[in-house]
Amino acid sequence: AMCNQKGGVGKTTTTINLAASLAEPGRRVLIVDFDPQGAASVGLGIATHELETTIYNLLVDRSALIDDAIVATNVPGRHVLPANIDLSAAEVQLVGEVARESILARVLRPVIDDYDVILIDCQPSLGLLTVNALTAAHGVLIPLECEFFALRGVALLVETIEKVRDRLNPRLEVDGIVATMFDSRTLHSREVIARVYEAFGDTLMHTVIGRTIKFPDASVAAEPITTYASNHSGATAYRQ
Ligand code: ADP
Ligand code: MG
Repeated sequence: AMCNQKGGVGKTTTTINLAASLAEPGRRVLIVDFDPQGAASVGLGIATHELETTIYNLLVDRSALIDDAIVATNVPGRHVLPANIDLSAAEVQLVGEVARESILARVLRPVIDDYDVILIDCQPSLGLLTVNALTAAHGVLIPLECEFFALRGVALLVETIEKVRDRLNPRLEVDGIVATMFDSRTLHSREVIARVYEAFGDTLMHTVIGRTIKFPDASVAAEPITTYASNHSGATAYRQ
């Protein structure tokens, strides 16, 4: 699960590009768009308003079939379970359900063996959808933007992860913190990295994602950076 309740930190960018990097050597990867904004789906070139079956239908209708919802992308082996604004109704609709925190885990069960990796792109909140993502996942990746207030809110996120581990999903681990939008020319970026390292030690991944216009450019082209600018340092970073 790609998780940080702060918006604009690189969750969706990391999901799309990490998935493309994982698929490059032939892994089968599923992206689960779990944000009603549908940014991952749109970034993958999907016309989300035209979709008949999305993750929303799978969550609220037990008879909906996941195979009807999964779509192939322009990277071989990389599939997506798309979302659109319909998903914003799910949080309210699911509140009264039995085992409402483990509905996504149930939805994904039929396709788990079809993929080597499943990446869940979470919405920027710690609400029921995100708790569903944490309950379904083995691990959490926390993208963290290299700016001054980056660490604000991370303590609450870690607390939420620990609660989900205690009560719902004992195997859940923090896989790592991924520093994003790093600008090597500024002292500021380096100070943020130093502070994150001080607080989290080796949970901070060694690979840092630099700030570059290539990422927004690639999303406008609905391409991952690994094909849009294959030799760029941003592509190398996500492969690493
Ligand atoms: P989130 O999913 O956490 O809200 P996004 O991945 O959508 O964040 O990123 C927010 C914005 O920042 C997007 O416009 C995206 O293109 C841009 N962005 C993401 N990563 C980088 C980066 N490494 N360098 C420059 N811009 C980036
Ligand atoms: Mg996003």
